[in-house]
Amino acid sequence: MPNYHIWTIGCQMNKAESERLASCFEELGYQATDTAAEADLIVLNSCVVRQSAENRIINKLHNLKQLKKSQPGMVIAVTGCLVNSEIDRLKKSFPHVDHFFKPGDYPPWLEKTGTPPLPHHPSPSVYVPVIQGCDNFCSYCIVPYRRGRERSRTIPEITCEVRELVQRGAQEVTLLGQNVDSYGHDLPDRPDLAALLTGLNNINGLARLRFLTNHPKDMSTRLIEATAGLDKVCEQISLPVQSGSNDILEAMRRGYTVEQYRRLITRIRQQIPGVALSTDIIVGFPSESDGQFQQTADLLSEIKFDTVHVAAYSPRTGTMAAREFEDNIPLTEKRERLNKVEQLQEKIAAEINGRLLGKPVEILVEGKTTDKWHGRTRTGKLVFFSNENNCLGRLMKIRIDRTSPWSLQGEIEANNSEEGK
Ligand code: SAM
Ligand code: SF4
Repeated sequence: MPNYHIWTIGCQMNKAESERLASCFEELGYQATDTAAEADLIVLNSCVVRQSAENRIINKLHNLKQLKKSQPGMVIAVTGCLVNSEIDRLKKSFPHVDHFFKPGDYPPWLEKTGTPPLPHHPSPSVYVPVIQGCDNFCSYCIVPYRRGRERSRTIPEITCEVRELVQRGAQEVTLLGQNVDSYGHDLPDRPDLAALLTGLNNINGLARLRFLTNHPKDMSTRLIEATAGLDKVCEQISLPVQSGSNDILEAMRRGYTVEQYRRLITRIRQQIPGVALSTDIIVGFPSESDGQFQQTADLLSEIKFDTVHVAAYSPRTGTMAAREFEDNIPLTEKRERLNKVEQLQEKIAAEINGRLLGKPVEILVEGKTTDKWHGRTRTGKLVFFSNENNCLGRLMKIRIDRTSPWSLQGEIEANNSEEGK
């Protein structure tokens, strides 16, 4: 049996696409292997959001050149955000790559498996892309140039897919989009994400629904109400703010002010009690002053997010920011600001997670690493516990006995220990 190997970096969208590619290959008779050297077919699913990610792909491609020399029959394919519309140029730069295909565009040699290719044995928690692309063109971001304009999948197509995934064992579904709030605007009748969630909430056997990533300028009252009112929709919102300075937000072309963002957070917290919030921050955007960086830090201290993803600004060729603004914050300063955000967030997350000490939480068990099972709460907290039996895919009550900024640990609650045996 031939072997395949998929190497994935980047966002959840790439992870979801890699899962689907894996099931296509399995349908074609391939078997997964952990190392590229053992594979007959290698796929690199790339991310180029930051230069460092693009460099990793380029290095990987150079390494594969040697491997292909020693194993000329090996097939190499590249997908993800590295693949722009200039495929001929990519082919010239990397002649040892057999196929380049854009994210979500299955090449003819894969199409005979039929779409959508779904994992045969999905994990209890799966990703389902509902809208591809992005129309926002934030000044720093390369995604719209690589992933193209927004294209939504229809509600019947997504519903059918979620039903099938649930039948195959999935219990939690995370709906994905670069800007998930835009879902449906390009479809006839213009359905929205709230309508999609309302329909999916009725699927028997599905325990939980999540969605990401939201855009502060687009998150609607209907969506907040649907999240609050639908029993399967989890209390977790991902809402990237990027900066606490209005001048920087304007230069980023984000389309909202700090005041509008703050009001949105207040409404979300009022309507969805106990909601967990995560955000993304870019530090060292061109001309970001100490004072403007401090405004970001102050906003984080004020809002107290459960999770913050922080990145140092990386100029991306082709974007407006790279064209119009000098990348004038030294790397050492960017790193210092990044560390400051991480240290601040560590304290905030320690405080938030510490409040769960001694409390019972419900988790969906997603897997086991070494000797501990792990799963997530509805609010997305990662929880570890020990049990000798197979707990995969079960909803379990765990009493928390240790907390850290990143995860929680606990013991199975007495009232579900029977099931845990
Ligand atoms: N659509 C989402 C939003 O509105 O923020 C996020 C998608 S974006 C691909 C993921 C994250 O990558 C962004 O939130 C941003 O923090 C980061 N990012 C994007 N472009 C970047 C750049 N040029 N330099 C540093 N970080 C960047
Ligand atoms: Fe990039 Fe902005 Fe689109 Fe997010 S909303 S993917 S940051 S352009």
